[in-house]
Amino acid sequence: MTIRIGVVGTGAIGRDHARRINDVLTGARITGLSDVNLQSAKAVKSDVAPDAEIFAVGEELIASDTVDAVLVTSWGGAHEQYVLAAIAAGKPCFCEKPLATTAEGAKRIVDAEVAHGKRLVQVGFMRRYDAGYRMLKKVVDSEIGQPLIVHAAHRNPSVPEQYVTPMAIHDTLIHEIDVFRWLLDDDYVSAQVVFPRASSHTHAKLKDPQIVLLETAKGIRIDVEVFVNCQYGYDIQCQVVGEEGIASLPEPMSVVMRKEAQLGQAILTDWKDRFVASYDVELQDFIAAAVKGTASGPTSWDGYVAAISSDACVAAQEAPGRIVPISLPARPALYA
Ligand code: NAP
Repeated sequence: MTIRIGVVGTGAIGRDHARRINDVLTGARITGLSDVNLQSAKAVKSDVAPDAEIFAVGEELIASDTVDAVLVTSWGGAHEQYVLAAIAAGKPCFCEKPLATTAEGAKRIVDAEVAHGKRLVQVGFMRRYDAGYRMLKKVVDSEIGQPLIVHAAHRNPSVPEQYVTPMAIHDTLIHEIDVFRWLLDDDYVSAQVVFPRASSHTHAKLKDPQIVLLETAKGIRIDVEVFVNCQYGYDIQCQVVGEEGIASLPEPMSVVMRKEAQLGQAILTDWKDRFVASYDVELQDFIAAAVKGTASGPTSWDGYVAAISSDACVAAQEAPGRIVPISLPARPALYA
């Protein structure tokens, strides 16, 4: 069976997901495209999805009987309305992160999905589909005893001028926030942020680097260095200290070279290259579930918890050193 997918938001990632569905993955094809920028939708149709119909309004695409499932890849502020429309139409929906830009918005999606009574939403937390993180999870689950501490880093060579301090949480740390809950099968109970000496490569509205300290319900302590002007590369590090051993996220595959009296390996510089394979796996998973009229992978609940946890981290940024508690409502049975 081939399912028909409509894409709302045909910018960078919407275009790339449309390409991967039509050219790389199996079981689906793109039949609808919509974007507030009509030219962008037209360009994606001509470049990667020639059979797709262009819809002027996202909600019309979602309601169309030529669309079985929906990809929401508009900018973050325009996710909630389309995810709610997809749930109202009873159609499986893949939503890029963030699920919504506020915890209240994410909660409205959880409530709508719970009222619908069946999972329809997958959130685009693609690290759970990364081969390296999956290998790490296997080892953490079975080889090193109980996890006690996580040391992690999220480093970008540089960020655009408009990137400001809270974006280090909402746009950057959000991936760690989700993947550690999954990796450790745990939830956060508090967040704290401390700022070391600032890099001379940052600007007045961006405190960089920063260290985010998270505590989980099981008592695991996590330290994440977020350093988005690190200059040297895009580098994701994660080391889990267990009671019987230590497990580290594998480095991306790269040729080891001996040249000019140096032994070395290249480090990636573009975030797009780091998790490119995981996007294929996550969307193939979405298609497999959508064929059955449901969704798998990261849930609306995960998107909601990520939003609550992010808000706590931003509050912690605003009061450096303060420990900000994180409390979650009861998890609905749909997400057990
Ligand atoms: P982008 O290139 O700016 O594309 C977003 C598109 O959505 C633009 O064409 C924009 O049009 C359109 N849009 C804005 N408001 C809309 C609305 N109300 N209805 C329909 N379309 C609307 O951004 P992007 O990089 O593709 O990112 C899109 C989303 O994916 C973001 O939420 C981002 O966080 C997420 N993302 C996730 C990952 C990941 O690793 N999982 C990676 C990249 C992006 P205009 O340009 O005219 O505003």
